[in-house]
Amino acid sequence: MRQMRNAWQNEQQAQLQLQQDEEEEERQRLNEHGDLMRRQEILEEVANNASRQNIDTYQAQNADNDDDDDDPYMDGMYMDAPNPPNPPADDDPYMDGMYMDAPNPPNPPAPPPPPPPAGPVLMPADPAGRHSLGPMNLECPNCHALHFASEKLSTSTRNALKFGMCCLTGQVDLPPFPPAPRDLRDLFDGTSPHSLNFKTHVRQYNAAFAFTSLGVNVDHSVVAGSGPYSFRISGQLHHHSGANLLPLPDRAPVFAQLYIYDPQEQLAQRQGNNPGLNPAIMTEIQGILGTLHPYVELYKQAFQIMREKPAEEHDTVAVRLHAERTQDLRRYNLPTANDEVAAIIPGDGSEQRSDHHDIILRLRGRGLRRMSHLHPSYSTLHYVLLFPHGEDGWHPAIPTRVIPGIKPRSPNVTQRCYYAHRLHSRPGEQPLLLWGGNLFQQFVVDAWASVEQSNLNWVKNHQKELRSDVYSGLRDAVLGDADNNLNLAQHGQRVILPSSFVGSERFMTQLFQDAMAIVRAFGKPDIFLTMTANPRWPEIQDQLLWDVPPGPGANHQRRRQKASDRPDIVARVFEGKKEAVLKEIKNGKFGRVVAIFHTIEFQKCGLPHMHCLIFLHPDDKIHDANQVDNIVSAQLPDQNLNPLLYETITTCMLHGPCGADKPNAPCMVNGRCSKHYPKEFNEHTLYGENGYPKYARPNNGRTVEKNNHVYDNRYVIPYHPESSAR
Ligand SMILES: [Zn+2]
Ligand SMILES: [Zn+2]
Repeated sequence: MRQMRNAWQNEQQAQLQLQQDEEEEERQRLNEHGDLMRRQEILEEVANNASRQNIDTYQAQNADNDDDDDDPYMDGMYMDAPNPPNPPADDDPYMDGMYMDAPNPPNPPAPPPPPPPAGPVLMPADPAGRHSLGPMNLECPNCHALHFASEKLSTSTRNALKFGMCCLTGQVDLPPFPPAPRDLRDLFDGTSPHSLNFKTHVRQYNAAFAFTSLGVNVDHSVVAGSGPYSFRISGQLHHHSGANLLPLPDRAPVFAQLYIYDPQEQLAQRQGNNPGLNPAIMTEIQGILGTLHPYVELYKQAFQIMREKPAEEHDTVAVRLHAERTQDLRRYNLPTANDEVAAIIPGDGSEQRSDHHDIILRLRGRGLRRMSHLHPSYSTLHYVLLFPHGEDGWHPAIPTRVIPGIKPRSPNVTQRCYYAHRLHSRPGEQPLLLWGGNLFQQFVVDAWASVEQSNLNWVKNHQKELRSDVYSGLRDAVLGDADNNLNLAQHGQRVILPSSFVGSERFMTQLFQDAMAIVRAFGKPDIFLTMTANPRWPEIQDQLLWDVPPGPGANHQRRRQKASDRPDIVARVFEGKKEAVLKEIKNGKFGRVVAIFHTIEFQKCGLPHMHCLIFLHPDDKIHDANQVDNIVSAQLPDQNLNPLLYETITTCMLHGPCGADKPNAPCMVNGRCSKHYPKEFNEHTLYGENGYPKYARPNNGRTVEKNNHVYDNRYVIPYHPESSAR
């Protein structure tokens, strides 16, 4: 164990890459923030902040993915132009005149040294092997979730492993879901001959049987391309429960309305609504849910109760499905019998009720009703295929397990902790959820939207407490006025998102100001490094679930999940490798580091991506072309001398094809490659021109052919050789 940990710690980084093209984006981003800054120049806060010397790392989680990286499978990590310490003031790409009031110019002006005659550059030898987080086989002693060694808490010891992300070291104690019915499991795990069709259209099959519909704007622009499936939404997400069980006269029954028909009629209606779906699979699913899902019976009974009322009451009659979970402080259990899932309470809908516990059903009426995301059955009523037993999801009354001697973080399990717990795999337990593929992705987005909604509601309901904090600083008062002008006319109630709310404007502004304070204190960043998750990393591939082997006579191949089916694993592996990279950088990989900050974005293909700015000690700054060559290369490596590096560069670090060869490539804007590939040949690295180095791309005849396209040095995306080989 110790050896493994040491190996992991010593091991350097996965694949590092750099990309010149992102400079432009980064510059624009900084300039946009520049406007924000100017608005607050009257405040001297930033100047004061400049004296802060101990700032280390800032991280902004940013779901905004404006990143247009060419290849969704782009490997590992790469770095960009080391900036010269002193570009001419007029040409300052970073600041847009912003640090005119900087207390001290960070670097005394010096003429850029003339480019030295650069000789042929020797690549460093490949490392002994690729970076690895090790196997995901450490078991949490409390909840038995499986972990990578990098996920241990810092208080963890060899004899007492501790993990937080799965169960807060035991405070989150949830019963496992009951095993999935055999037939449904067979559809998910490849046993059934219909499995491929089922999994390809799993979201459609689920929607055909869901009780509630999904109300959200799905961003189809992301899914339109040829890349991996990516479920992306904008705006609010909610589930609609059909308020009325009888469809309008001119409409076909949908969602819960379908469940009141006899089985044959149900099937015919569903098939009519979804002509593309396989009838055999539809029959099978309907059979499974008809016998298992408690709400099928509850909806039928509710319909019977209402229909037996006199005809003149049919327009007003209502039934309440009441699902209050009384809190058992000792232990949280899933409901076992049908009558525990929800109670049927007839009435006319006028009695007191709680949106969080009740579903109101009527015979007739117009309109949709939003279902509260705090309702215990929120998940199972939409994700019927993932929770076919009517399993309870999160609700506010799940008690935290009390551990003697440890003060619980909160008396009840938070939404975030609940979902984190459910997204782990445990030995002997392979939840249907993790087999869900595209449906799992949708569930994860749904869960996140629900958590975010709860956080926003909390802020909305605690404005009084927050406001004193918000207005204590002049800076926020100024921003508050800006909000006032912008929003007050459009929205009835002004809600202030405090800077502690991740992703809010104040949050981003604060991070930006901290970053600018670092620039004022330490000068400009020296290295811009980016790192992208690679779905082919073995740590990810090892966790992808395999179909069960096909039985004798089966005419289909055994398949494995794709990385896009497991955003949970991709994010965890990326986090582990990212931390390893940052540690190496802080330990001096590029020289002594005085400051560093990074931000993480999710690209359109769903893969996380880090941008990192590194500030080096004045003595270790990059001054000439030789130093650039020691860090950055933009050439095809030698296949025999650097086999690992060659593999990485030829699979991940070649741009294109685009231009005339592929006019519809994602990088093409107005008929030209927006990243300016292919670049020009260039025998030697030139340092100092336009403030940016021009990397060596010698016309040395080295080429590689891939997908009927021949690449030479003009197509290589700049990379860090040592890291890319790892
Ligand atoms: Zn645990
Ligand atoms: Zn291009």
